[in-house]
Amino acid sequence: MGGSAVSSGTDLSVDVYEPSADTDLLETQTRLQEAVRTLITGIGEDEKRDGLRDTPKRVAKAWLDASSGYRKTAKSVVGGALFHEPEIANSPGGLVIVRDVDFASTSETSLLPFYGRCHLGYLPSHGVVLGLSKVARLVAMLAKRLQTQERFTQELINTFEAEVLPQGCAVIVEANQLEYGKRAHVNISSARSGCFLQSEVMEEFETLLRFSGPGKAEAVRGLQEGPDLAAPGVVHSTGKSADDTRLRYSASSAVTNGLEECMEEAEHEGGTSTSAALEGAVLAILREIGEDPRREGLSGSAQRYVRFLLASTAGYKEAMPHRNGSLHCPEPSRQQSAAQPPAAQDLHIHFMSHCEHHMLPFHGQVHVAYLLGSSGHHVPLERLQALVKTCSRRLQIQERLTQEIADGVFSLTGGYGALVACEASHMCMVARGVEKHASSTITTAARGAYLQRTALRSQMLQRLMQHQSESERRAVR
Ligand SMILES: [Zn+2]
Repeated sequence: MGGSAVSSGTDLSVDVYEPSADTDLLETQTRLQEAVRTLITGIGEDEKRDGLRDTPKRVAKAWLDASSGYRKTAKSVVGGALFHEPEIANSPGGLVIVRDVDFASTSETSLLPFYGRCHLGYLPSHGVVLGLSKVARLVAMLAKRLQTQERFTQELINTFEAEVLPQGCAVIVEANQLEYGKRAHVNISSARSGCFLQSEVMEEFETLLRFSGPGKAEAVRGLQEGPDLAAPGVVHSTGKSADDTRLRYSASSAVTNGLEECMEEAEHEGGTSTSAALEGAVLAILREIGEDPRREGLSGSAQRYVRFLLASTAGYKEAMPHRNGSLHCPEPSRQQSAAQPPAAQDLHIHFMSHCEHHMLPFHGQVHVAYLLGSSGHHVPLERLQALVKTCSRRLQIQERLTQEIADGVFSLTGGYGALVACEASHMCMVARGVEKHASSTITTAARGAYLQRTALRSQMLQRLMQHQSESERRAVR
């Protein structure tokens, strides 16, 4: 076939939503805020405290943004961006491929974000091409609705076909999926039509997708390993554990366990008057964004979400460790004079928490080191795990979480020295459609000797981080 066009890495940040111009939407926003307030107080938080004061507004806007696709049509998105190119009409072949279009959508089953990348290829008919940036706009329109990945894939190909009338089209969607009761995984779904049903056209598409980057090769392999997709319009899906894949944006497996644990625990939550009130608030949110909570795909979703919210904020049932300044610190001069550094323990604990600004999960690993005092006794791992859980299962920010864990470790271990490095990925950073899928945040806190002695601290940080890179290597293997 003749030449082809490939475009990569489209930024969707232009689509971030601002409702201020529309009075109806402002009223909807007010009602959404009310529902979010019910959620915040329902889990036992003080909605008036500093960090939470703007949260209802932020979360309400995020819901309006995540549902803004309902208020758009393909016609209005495409606008005048269909171009007739005689040059293209007169030459046969010439695939057009738009690759790596980032998207973030909301799962109708979990009401949590799922996110990833799409690739779309088509063969123009009669020289009609669509402005390349419009593909990203169509993707955003469909993603900003409550979706399943399969329906999203199908709607993307249907919409594109209806608007552009190509000789054929293919869509591949790679997404990070979190479903309750399942391991976090990358799911690949695809659909094709017209000339893409011919294997040589599909092969050409796959070859072009493979250009640069192991991620794309992985996507193509995911397709090939799946069942044969012969019938037109059939969406097929291949699930992959996050362990098995090297897709760039799939958070390393090390940072998913805390979330999975919480999702399992969520099954035992609920059935109280509190959970009923929270469920009412979630149903109100669904109605406000223009959904019908009674439709089949949404059945049970509000209840599942509330269970998850309750499990991920179960820390309120436990007392927080308090800062204990009276604990003794080792004599720096005496310790430093020793040829050997004081005996230290290090460990690594998965956690999952809820961002208090956006009410979305953040999760990862807490790396903890502490110095053994003269008594030299270890603190059981379970006690430290319980401490991390108490501190993290509530509305938090990562910085404060890290400090609170450091206080708790310092206090539990006798007050010689505590060092905490917390590594997390935040769902609020991926849920806005901006290309930040691979980002993670690290925060640290030190107490006692680790605060006073820089060399001791940096030595231990290296040890902690080395553990991290080793476990990452194991995960990729
Ligand atoms: Zn956040």
